[in-house]
Amino acid sequence: MQNRKQTIKLMDKRVIANNTLELLYQSNNRLAFIPGQFYSFHFENEGTSKARSYSAANSILNPQHNCELSIAVTLHSQGFASNRFLDAEPGEEIEVSGPFGNLILPKQLPSTVFLVATGTGIAPFRSMLSQIEEFLEQGPVRFILAFGVRSREDLLYDREFYNLANTYRNFNYEVYLSQQEPLHSHEFTGRVTNLFNKHELDPADTLAFVCGNPDMVDDVVEGFKGCGLETRQIKREKYTLSPF
Ligand SMILES: Cc1cc2nc3c(=O)[nH]c(=O)nc-3n(C[C@H](O)[C@H](O)[C@H](O)COP(=O)(O)OP(=O)(O)OC[C@H]3O[C@@H](n4cnc5c(N)ncnc54)[C@H](O)[C@@H]3O)c2cc1C
Repeated sequence: MQNRKQTIKLMDKRVIANNTLELLYQSNNRLAFIPGQFYSFHFENEGTSKARSYSAANSILNPQHNCELSIAVTLHSQGFASNRFLDAEPGEEIEVSGPFGNLILPKQLPSTVFLVATGTGIAPFRSMLSQIEEFLEQGPVRFILAFGVRSREDLLYDREFYNLANTYRNFNYEVYLSQQEPLHSHEFTGRVTNLFNKHELDPADTLAFVCGNPDMVDDVVEGFKGCGLETRQIKREKYTLSPF
């Protein structure tokens, strides 16, 4: 059953990048998310509940047999959920609802797929890793993952994407560093929107996924539209902050 509330238990917590935590939860029941989807976390707060959304970051192939949920959290200074995650200890339980969202790979893909993220917006694409690898094995699809961060210390899951790019010729991994000089051949300078200076797109045969900071999402969506993509060819998830 989808979207019902369930309780999950924190199993592990670690720092995975500058100002970024990864938290691994386990449920007694099935967590039937499709890679790319997110859950809403419900925090108790003085008798009421505050909800915050987080994308699943763990890679799964079969939602029928999954009881784990991993999330990557950017810590906001004085952020309500950020402070709760900072203090959380393994064994603690929390209520979640979901899965939600449509940032999902369809069964049939065009010849080029762009995945564009900033910061923890990379989480849904990390969750898609097994699916992406299946497409890569089959051959005809080319993926271009463009990941924008300020500096290398902000990169998460970097080795996994780097290794995938070294294994499959049809997987391109590009890191855009806005506050550091590039050192390696897959690194570029500036904001992730610079990807439009690097790639010629065939709008009839391209699908784009964009996730992360809302301003970046808007700018990248405009970039794809400027290249001729229609709205239906651009799937997006904005990590908007909660108003309460
Ligand atoms: C669909 C979706 C998926 C998401 N997935 C992820 C994810 O995978 N990973 C992730 O890290 N985030 C994700 N987010 C964002 C996440 O839901 C939270 O919004 C984020 O973690 C901040 O929550 P918080 O409670 O820590 O901060 P908040 O308490 O909401 O505060 C955010 C910032 O605003 C400041 N602030 C708060 N109140 C005030 C005020 N009154 N005046 C001035 N400043 C104020 C805080 O100091 C803080 O810096 C997602 C959002 C959406 C919508």
